[in-house]
Amino acid sequence: MKKILVSGGAGFLGSHLCEELIRTGNDVLCVDNFFTGSKRNIAHLMTNPYFEVMRHDVTFPLYVEVEQIYNLACPASPVHYQFDPVQTTKTSVHGAINMLGLAKRLQARILQASTSEVYGDPEVHPQPEEYWGRVNPVGIRSCYDEGKRCAETLFFDYWRQHALLIKVVRIFNTYGPRMHPNDGRVVSNFIVQAIRGEDITIYGEGQQTRSFCYVDDLINVMVRMMNSPDDFTGPVNIGNPCEYTMLELAEMVLKLTGSTSKLVFKPLPSDDPKQRQPNIALAKEKLGWEPKVNLEDGLTRTIEYFKKELSL
Ligand code: NAD
Ligand code: UDP
Ligand code: UDP
Repeated sequence: MKKILVSGGAGFLGSHLCEELIRTGNDVLCVDNFFTGSKRNIAHLMTNPYFEVMRHDVTFPLYVEVEQIYNLACPASPVHYQFDPVQTTKTSVHGAINMLGLAKRLQARILQASTSEVYGDPEVHPQPEEYWGRVNPVGIRSCYDEGKRCAETLFFDYWRQHALLIKVVRIFNTYGPRMHPNDGRVVSNFIVQAIRGEDITIYGEGQQTRSFCYVDDLINVMVRMMNSPDDFTGPVNIGNPCEYTMLELAEMVLKLTGSTSKLVFKPLPSDDPKQRQPNIALAKEKLGWEPKVNLEDGLTRTIEYFKKELSL
């Protein structure tokens, strides 16, 4: 049994990760300031003696004793990370410094939840890990993109300078149960709008693409990465390479919900990446992993979740 810290453990991905780590016999400390996460996401774990929650903001130092650290704390939806952009950068940068300082003192392994946003609006498609990206340093997405890029820099400098055991995963768009209904990301927006019979909001002309990974596949590879050989630091892309336009996604959600909602077109937010698809050759080679759940099956499970959630 390992003592494992999950920062951002009450969020969408964090709560699934805590659940998986407990299921496989670990002792989990969930640290969260509940900015976008909620107690509801982890309520079912509260009675487990090997699960503990601490309300804490990772921009402040943290002194606890653990053997592994998964650093997920950071709002992930553009709506939420742009709400208080200064705090977003602080969370990524000061949060990384504090988690790395903690890992250094404890000689603990530490995994960073980085993002496909480090590639910005990419000219290389699909994106391999070697691509350095095309990120606007002064736009509305920069607090998130540059914060995450700086966090990666810190991880690699602690590795070079202090021989820390680091693991960096670049997560591509992931969806599933426990996304917040008001999260603002495209999958939850479309599903909630379709179930409620509200207009489906397409930003721009809906020709921009994303590649969507179901949460179970993603948690599986995150844990594999944490437990991979010491010399494999990443960065490694993790996500599902099946790419769709936002119009195609909307059509699929309408079909699967049987909704009669209409599509409406809204302005495209600035710096919105036009295309995104992970090259996952490295994850396949080093971690023996590839996603198993296709978009239709994953959406069906997610729609079931939201139908229950919205009827409460
Ligand atoms: P989420 O918003 O549901 O979860 C983030 C969690 O971090 C929340 O519980 C929030 O309350 C917590 N948090 C935020 N700021 C904090 C702070 N200063 N101190 C402590 N806790 C804080 O988002 P998610 O989708 O679960 O994303 C989790 C991580 O994965 C994030 O780091 C995100 O950048 C990364 N990621 C997610 C995706 C995706 O598609 N879901 C894609 C790329 C990267
Ligand atoms: N830190 C922490 N918990 C620990 C050890 C360190 O939160 O158990 C924080 C502390 O705020 C420190 C930061 O991590 O400033 C970076 O630690 P490091 O040892 O790398 O640097 P230093 O202590 O010299 O600033
Ligand atoms: N999007 C949309 N309608 C919405 C929400 C998002 O068309 O209601 C688009 C958004 O402009 C982007 C894509 O869907 O092109 C994915 O957006 P999301 O916020 O989920 O994540 P991103 O990958 O942009 O961080």
